[in-house]
Amino acid sequence: MADIQPEKTNVCIIGSGPAAHTAAIYAARAELKPILFEGWMANDIAPGGQLTTTTEVENFPGFPSGLLGSDLMDRCREQSIRFGTVIHTETVNNVDFSSTPFQVMTDERTVLADAVIIATGAVAKRLEFIGSGDGVNGYWNRGISACAVCDGAAPIFRNKPLAVIGGGDSAMEEATFLTKYGSKVYIIHRRDEFRASKIMRNRVMSNSKIEIIWNSVVIEAYGEKTVDGLKVKNVVNGEVTDLSVAGLFFAIGHEPATKFLDGQLVLDDERYIVTEPGTTKTSVRGVFAAGDVQDKKYRQAITAAGSGCMAALDAEHYLQEIGAQQGKSD
Ligand code: FAD
Ligand code: NDP
Repeated sequence: MADIQPEKTNVCIIGSGPAAHTAAIYAARAELKPILFEGWMANDIAPGGQLTTTTEVENFPGFPSGLLGSDLMDRCREQSIRFGTVIHTETVNNVDFSSTPFQVMTDERTVLADAVIIATGAVAKRLEFIGSGDGVNGYWNRGISACAVCDGAAPIFRNKPLAVIGGGDSAMEEATFLTKYGSKVYIIHRRDEFRASKIMRNRVMSNSKIEIIWNSVVIEAYGEKTVDGLKVKNVVNGEVTDLSVAGLFFAIGHEPATKFLDGQLVLDDERYIVTEPGTTKTSVRGVFAAGDVQDKKYRQAITAAGSGCMAALDAEHYLQEIGAQQGKSD
């Protein structure tokens, strides 16, 4: 690590998605001079977060014609900078929350912060099989997606058979959601029972547009320009069958980006940061969490942005309480 003097700030924000930038806009407008670490290919995602991995975003209010995910995040970044956020394109690999000021560390520098907002997001887990990847030989974003709520309404899926992989609440929710658009929805699950909650399971079982393919895994996706079908293998008898579908949605869980916290905050059993209900407060006073890193239910850009706003306001109130705020209240 370069031997330079630590920078000091009221608020340090870690992350670069809608949650981090909304927190930065609010904190900067409150003259808290936030320092934001946007990461450099943190978890293999470019600065800007998950939306940089998609094409059109059609459900973010204010953009009736939709816009590219990367354009939306460029605008958010520009707005953060406009109000004075200092952005470092570095990945945080270590923090020390054992005493104040908190320490946030990258390979290049250490920032001392009175308050910290963690908005490092999560990554949807993807499966690997023939045709699952990006690029010319794969159908990722050309019929394969990890977010039905985001992509399900696309014209290529309308009135066509679709498939969801998974057996948890996400799979139940995504399959039910997709019945609005698809002619039929298959749930392909590797076992013979769902782990999803009873209510979600029952909703799926009683939906006549959903068919469950038990004990099965997808081994190949194929098609012309977009997905036309799947090869599905029964794991009990080894039989491989063709399933004609226009879309495939992974719903096999997410991985929250919390490894760098190294046990310093209370996480739940799936390693999401635990926040006090109705707030963004974590188990350490003065450390706040926003966006997908603390939300395994809604996982949308607008909900991440909303909680980023909450985190900045919670941080501002905290700074007032401890007498550290030098800026103005917004
Ligand atoms: P993220 O977007 O997850 O961003 C966090 C980012 O912080 C990381 O990607 C990384 O760049 C950075 N980071 C991580 N760790 C560190 C670290 N240690 N140090 C520094 N930086 C770090 N939602 C919608 O509302 N509409 C859509 O149309 C839509 N489409 C989607 C399409 C796809 C393919 C995917 C995967 C998701 C989509 N979503 C959509 C969901 C939406 O992208 C997320 O809910 C939202 O981006 C979560 O925002 P976030 O701020 O929590 O963090
Ligand atoms: P889960 O981890 O609960 O479920 C993941 C599912 O994907 C499991 O059925 C698992 O199979 C399957 N799976 C995992 N890896 C593979 C693989 N390599 N190949 C094939 N299948 C695989 O994740 P969810 O996203 O569904 O849920 C996460 C949390 O969020 C849960 O606590 C859930 O309750 C919550 N949630 C709540 C919602 C709500 O209340 N409305 C909505 C969505 C999520 P197996 O069962 O065999 O392990």
